[in-house]
Amino acid sequence: MEIADAVIIGGGVIGTSIAYRLADICDKVVVVEKGEVGAQTSGSCDKAIILQSKKPGFPSKLAQASRAIYENLEDELGIPFEFKKAGGMIVIQSPEHLQFMKQFVEDQNKAGIDVKLLDRKEALEKQPCFSPHIVGSTYSREDAEVNPLLLSQAFAKASRQKGADIKTHTKVLDITCEHGRVKGVQTDKGYIATEWVINAAGPFAPAIAEMVGVELTIKPRRGVILITEKIKPIVHGNILCAQYIAAKHLTDNKGTEVPPFGIGLSLGQTKSGNLLIGGSREFVGFDKSINANILSSIAAHASQIVPSLKTVQIIRSMVGFRPYTGDGLPIIDKVPEVEGFLIAAGHEGDGIALAPITGYLVRELIERSGRHKELLEPLKLERFK
Ligand SMILES: Cc1cc2nc3c(=O)[nH]c(=O)nc-3n(C[C@H](O)[C@H](O)[C@H](O)COP(=O)(O)OP(=O)(O)OC[C@H]3O[C@@H](n4cnc5c(N)ncnc54)[C@H](O)[C@@H]3O)c2cc1C
Repeated sequence: MEIADAVIIGGGVIGTSIAYRLADICDKVVVVEKGEVGAQTSGSCDKAIILQSKKPGFPSKLAQASRAIYENLEDELGIPFEFKKAGGMIVIQSPEHLQFMKQFVEDQNKAGIDVKLLDRKEALEKQPCFSPHIVGSTYSREDAEVNPLLLSQAFAKASRQKGADIKTHTKVLDITCEHGRVKGVQTDKGYIATEWVINAAGPFAPAIAEMVGVELTIKPRRGVILITEKIKPIVHGNILCAQYIAAKHLTDNKGTEVPPFGIGLSLGQTKSGNLLIGGSREFVGFDKSINANILSSIAAHASQIVPSLKTVQIIRSMVGFRPYTGDGLPIIDKVPEVEGFLIAAGHEGDGIALAPITGYLVRELIERSGRHKELLEPLKLERFK
């Protein structure tokens, strides 16, 4: 029988970031991943670390704390993952969206985010690929990007260097408890006895929580992204649209019209030249079959904003499932009913941006140093009870 100080279930960007931080305080950390590292949501997503799109208040504060860690993370891990401070823009297509975005920028500035509103001419100067019919744009130089595939791999490799054991192609089948306390994890390759189990299974977290009789309301929110052939750089930084902001905050922006399939532009270009064109937001369970209307709606919306996209070849599409909690924030907490069982899941569309701070917050839950108390308070599980 294997013994570990902590077992992390899920080898996505969240699980691997946690492994990296726990390896500093535990002798033996094990990550159990049923497939490959970062092959689920963390490998089917965009690459943006956008601060300006976060809701002012606590969500913005949490994102800022995570963004600050990114500044030196490549150096710390010693493994490059294409972190780039490329800036970000939210393009505005209609006068109605301009009103909404003016207020949005004001609120973000009050929250300490460096973002400004650009008129059409200024926006086109920064991003010549934009249609001349746009109304304007926001711009923030604080927005950044990474290669998400490399990021999970980098966290995993750096964790291994600190002694963590990352078990891929190993599925968690059950969690054993005795007298209300976690005892171990049963996988399809054997049993691991442990005092701490961290549920970092992203959209699959409810099935893991069920193993200890805990109900989690995280739902998969499907997103589709189109990937183009490699072309010369035409996009600088990451581009969202004001419609995307509305779609992202759909649940609480009750007055906002819902775009079909929850579509809103998210556009970026990888280092190798492929464009990532997103995206949709739908609740269809874990259904991976894509309706052709979604693909054409995403392409049509994107080419209204960047007309030259009409002549670029789409080579494939990808589907990911955002772990959606309903209030735009993840759950990072100990489960009071089951001693030793922690949840770090539900990062929805912000898991890449929030992975660095999540590792620290889970370490804090185990260490109890009190350092990040105010960041953990709003992430408690009890807010859904
Ligand atoms: C279309 C789209 C675009 C996005 N764009 C961005 C963006 O630009 N910026 C941003 O910050 N975020 C973005 N996100 C969100 C981000 O991708 C997610 O929040 C993040 O990847 C979630 O990571 P995770 O580790 O929690 O989940 P996952 O990556 O899904 O990892 C969970 C892991 O648990 C494993 N697992 C599940 N059950 C078991 C079991 N029984 N045994 C063992 N292992 C198990 C799975 O195999 C999986 O690898 C986007 C998401 C989507 C879908």
